[in-house]
Amino acid sequence: MDQHQADWNAKAARNIITNLEKRRMAGSYCVSAGQAKDEVVAMIPEGATVFRCGSMTSVGMGLWEAIAALPGVTLLDPYPPDLPPDEAMEIRRRGMIADVMIASTNAITLDGILVNLDGMGNRVAAMAFGPKQVILVVGMNKVVPDLASAVARVKHYAAPVNNIRLGYKNPCTETGLCTDCKTPGRICNLWSTIEGHMIKDRIHVKLVGENLGY
Ligand code: SF4
Repeated sequence: MDQHQADWNAKAARNIITNLEKRRMAGSYCVSAGQAKDEVVAMIPEGATVFRCGSMTSVGMGLWEAIAALPGVTLLDPYPPDLPPDEAMEIRRRGMIADVMIASTNAITLDGILVNLDGMGNRVAAMAFGPKQVILVVGMNKVVPDLASAVARVKHYAAPVNNIRLGYKNPCTETGLCTDCKTPGRICNLWSTIEGHMIKDRIHVKLVGENLGY
């Protein structure tokens, strides 16, 4: 990334954070993923339970290893590869009352609206209500001008890329294009548009000046 892009990231992030605050959400900006990791880890209270939600952003930063190493912190992680599906589902249920949930967002608009799309809904449900604190780590590559652009980004980019990553048998896995399928394995089922929250600062968006996740 050259200096002009870095400057744009910092200026756009400042504007987004102002708009998040008007919506009773908090925001902050880090230039690098390494700095963001340190700051997210520092936000986790002693003895907290932390719910891990699907996020390639957090995986790429090494965030889960750092959180799992915190003394006294319990990481509710439904993603160990050898975990039976019924146990993974139970962890997702327990995550709904965790102290902290951590995820990213599929898109964020310049005026601070968060747009997400889930297959089962555990991530968007926990964003809306349940965990006391929601921390969303968001690369500036997910910033879009408006709601229509956010929906298009999620449906025509984030969802197909995730299908390809997971190797699901959906049409977009083959073509990279969304056909609005009705397959049993469709991951595009539950939309969430967060325009604000009555619990002030429950949602904290940590913007990062790098391309992270999808
Ligand atoms: S609706 Fe179906 S084809 Fe479209 S992105 Fe989702 S899973 Fe892929």
